[in-house]
Amino acid sequence: MKTATCRSCGAGIVWAKTKSGKLCPFDLTLSPEGKWGIDDRQTPPLAEKIEAHIGVSTPGFTSHFATCPDALKWRRRPVRHASRGVMR
Ligand SMILES: [Zn+2]
Repeated sequence: MKTATCRSCGAGIVWAKTKSGKLCPFDLTLSPEGKWGIDDRQTPPLAEKIEAHIGVSTPGFTSHFATCPDALKWRRRPVRHASRGVMR
């Protein structure tokens, strides 16, 4: 799995594409609270929400947006090229 480093906090992350086609950063470590499975046979890897099974807790990946200490900064910062008309 191709990994990357969070530009904000320096943690190891992996970028994976969600169903909506958005690339999102995920923590590299599996955790019991993780809600995402990553299929790294694809390029880019595909992230899919793990369905909750009754009585079974499957370890999964956690969105780095949820764990990054700088996530607030990420969210506040507008993505410059995402929408036209932002530059005045
Ligand atoms: Zn981070």
